[in-house]
Amino acid sequence: MELSKLAKELKPSATLAITAKAKEMKSQGIDVIGFGAGEPDFDTPDNIKEFAKRSIDNGFTKYTAASGIDELKNAIISRIKEDYSVEYDKKEIFVGSGAKHVLYNLFQVLLDADDEVIIPAPYWVSYPEQVRIAGGKPIILSTEQSKGFKVTPSEIQSVITDKTKILVLNYPSNPTGVTFTKEELIEIANIAEKNNLIIISDEIYDKTLYSETNHTSFVQINNSIKERTILVNGVSKTYSMTGWRIGYAAGNKNVLAAMNNLSGQSTSNPTSIAQKASVEAFSGPQDKVGEMVIEFKKRRDFICEELNNIEGISCLIPDGAFYVFPDISYYFGKSYKDGKIENSVDFADFLLNEAKVAVVPGVEFGSDKNIRISYATSMHDIKEGVKRIKEKLNEFFS
Ligand code: PMP
Ligand code: GLU
Repeated sequence: MELSKLAKELKPSATLAITAKAKEMKSQGIDVIGFGAGEPDFDTPDNIKEFAKRSIDNGFTKYTAASGIDELKNAIISRIKEDYSVEYDKKEIFVGSGAKHVLYNLFQVLLDADDEVIIPAPYWVSYPEQVRIAGGKPIILSTEQSKGFKVTPSEIQSVITDKTKILVLNYPSNPTGVTFTKEELIEIANIAEKNNLIIISDEIYDKTLYSETNHTSFVQINNSIKERTILVNGVSKTYSMTGWRIGYAAGNKNVLAAMNNLSGQSTSNPTSIAQKASVEAFSGPQDKVGEMVIEFKKRRDFICEELNNIEGISCLIPDGAFYVFPDISYYFGKSYKDGKIENSVDFADFLLNEAKVAVVPGVEFGSDKNIRISYATSMHDIKEGVKRIKEKLNEFFS
């Protein structure tokens, strides 16, 4: 059967593909350490699970409004207000089947053919593909590790054309873990205002932050910026609920009404039971969130120290999220028994085949000098995985 042009050009999600490959190797009895998945290893907190079970018993198992139930929208509004002192109306909240689905709908309803979307790199794998699927043009803005992987206002200004419609921000970042200070955000906001840009601010790692200063949401900057920003977040990372598939957008009600129409014609509502569970996630006790972050920080400190002690590897200490994105380009040009390392894909293949450690090649995030290692896995696996990487790389010097 002949596939559509779109389907032929579509790339698989590298993060999901590598996670699946590691799982498959494990099921074949191969002892692989999986550093691929950006998925907390903690169980969903019990109070959330109980809420879901109760909603099944109470028969909350039917269709809901395509953009989510009012109870969940109210819980999201209260959470944003408590966290950021910013107010939204129910019409300004859209609930989708994960933040990925929310972002997909956003690009679909905002982009016409050839509209340009500025995406600072390293970026999360799905942004450029989702923009392309919507017919838009991703404009990738590379940043350097030596400059902290931070995009500057003048760099943003330099790629703005009369076709530029959206700027995507993601902080703390997947894959670098880098975040912005309030002052940096204000400067970016000024550029957005001056050039009449829409900002999609993906703040899904807002709670997974290790620095002393709190996360500043882009919608906190001022009211005018709030009006031109669509805030994206969800339950996957903060509450360890990746499989439940609940994400949301907060922002302009006309945009959200269009997203509601799109969901109404495609997915319908996100799972009713997961919506109920998410009410409890946003409004119930929040102590488990802090406990998870403390554990992630221990892992971050350990993995960064160990990696930076390996010859030829250098990584920034991430401010948040649960990834490290070390530069491994020192190994380009080196040969081993089955091949030669020329780029990040070769390096990731080398680690998978020789060290039995699964990582994601940096090229998938727009930086071929790096690899992404997720430390959202047990300390036991982190220790073992790093040990394997170290031993294999040491063989280049023996
Ligand atoms: N944005 C970023 C930056 C992500 O890393 C992810 C994947 N974890 C998502 C959005 C999508 O998350 P989900 O669909 O699970 O809500
Ligand atoms: N976002 C996570 C990651 O980057 C999960 C996989 C995905 O949604 O692409 O690994």
